[in-house]
Amino acid sequence: MSYVEEVLALTEAKNPAQPEFIQAVKEVLTTLAPVIEANETLYRQNALLERMVEPDRQIIFRVPWTDDKGVSHVNRGFRVQFNNAIGPYKGGMRFHPSVNLSIIKFLGFEQIFKNSLTGLPIGGGKGGADFDPKGKSDAEILRFCQSFMAELYRHIGANVDVPAGDIGVGAREVGFMYGAYKKLTHLYEGVFTGKGLEYGGSLVRKQATGFGLVYLTEAMLNDHGDSFKGKRVAVSGSGNVAMYAAQKAVTLGAKVVTMSDSNGWIYDPNGLDIEYVRELKEIKRARISDYLIKYPNATYTETTSMDELRVWSVPCDIALPCATQNDIRKPHAEALVKNGCRCVGEGANMPSTLEAVEVFQNTKGLLFAPAKAANAGGVGTSALEMTQNSMRLSWTWDEVDEKLHAMMNNIYRNMADAAIKYNQKDNFVMGANIAGFEKVAAAMIAQGVQ
Ligand code: NDP
Repeated sequence: MSYVEEVLALTEAKNPAQPEFIQAVKEVLTTLAPVIEANETLYRQNALLERMVEPDRQIIFRVPWTDDKGVSHVNRGFRVQFNNAIGPYKGGMRFHPSVNLSIIKFLGFEQIFKNSLTGLPIGGGKGGADFDPKGKSDAEILRFCQSFMAELYRHIGANVDVPAGDIGVGAREVGFMYGAYKKLTHLYEGVFTGKGLEYGGSLVRKQATGFGLVYLTEAMLNDHGDSFKGKRVAVSGSGNVAMYAAQKAVTLGAKVVTMSDSNGWIYDPNGLDIEYVRELKEIKRARISDYLIKYPNATYTETTSMDELRVWSVPCDIALPCATQNDIRKPHAEALVKNGCRCVGEGANMPSTLEAVEVFQNTKGLLFAPAKAANAGGVGTSALEMTQNSMRLSWTWDEVDEKLHAMMNNIYRNMADAAIKYNQKDNFVMGANIAGFEKVAAAMIAQGVQ
């Protein structure tokens, strides 16, 4: 049995009923096989892989809160501090009813390598709660966030662990949690990123994951003599990542033909009005189905199961999955390829299953940018927010946007070069994993077994 197989078997045995976590570990370790084989003695001696798949600590706690009718509820809160070999733990908080330990661990594990890829000094962590913010009043969200922080505050800090947003956690939730932290600790420090601009947030942070996704995908296309210009783009989701990916794709001359939420999806082969989607979703907190109020000629189709082909059933040149994990399965990937898609940039975390990635990688000429690299612009800009906080200054929009753009170009170059180094030109899954892994591995070995 190879070292990778041994560690995979161990991880599966130790973490039963954690399918998302196992999926993420499998994807990373199997593509790292050539690097691991080349350094096997050193890595085994340091139990490197065994340490990498075991979080530094996993904090699980009760979050009691009372709704507007005076009825009390209990949710489960999580923070997994996975690895701080190259910097303080860093990763978002997700509030969604599907949240469990497996999902938080998969996200935290991925985050280690993504953060390393940004080239900035940040470790990997992730957290959240199985709480559904949908349909809750501001007062209910506030009480939930305060209760959540009543436990979490003791585990985080500007030089310890710096959470941010993710699904269900936007500027409102970050503001409430930051306020609670400040009250409990008497500290005014950059303990969260994605903060409001009035209290230490960074320009472009809100747009960074979506913009970054398009910058990296454009760099990949340019390197292959192509671009977004004139392309039809299928986007899933209509949240923070989807919105700004769609906006930037349109700026670069593309047409975004689909977007979605968890209830359904809209389609207009002539291109969607992204500003109107933004007004609906970001300002009015409405549903995507309301798009038809202004544009009755577009189509809306309800989603009853993620097994349906949904946004992946229409003709497109580029697919940007920006909703959630396992959004593209094998049949979806096959439908995309059949409909002409020749480029996929992952905005969400692990939006494609292992089988779907295989379909993409086996399609000649299809360019596939994995999430770890493609959506790293969000956390990268969070690290820029941390820098501005510790310097006590604010950069301009253009300064941050230029740094983000340069970062995404660098990430593309690093993953493309890592793939070439191991004779796997254009295998960006392998390239991103290797480029992210090597720095963390070297830091862990240099710091001794701990
Ligand atoms: P948001 O909550 O802003 O938006 C999520 C979008 O996906 C919404 O349109 C939501 O629909 C849809 N969605 C969520 N869960 C499901 C589901 N189970 N089935 C179908 N649709 C679903 O989150 P973000 O845009 O911030 O995050 C999207 C993805 O990007 C996640 O995978 C996240 O981990 C990843 N990511 C986010 C970063 C960030 O900076 N925000 C950074 C890096 C990665 P509905 O409104 O109906 O719930």
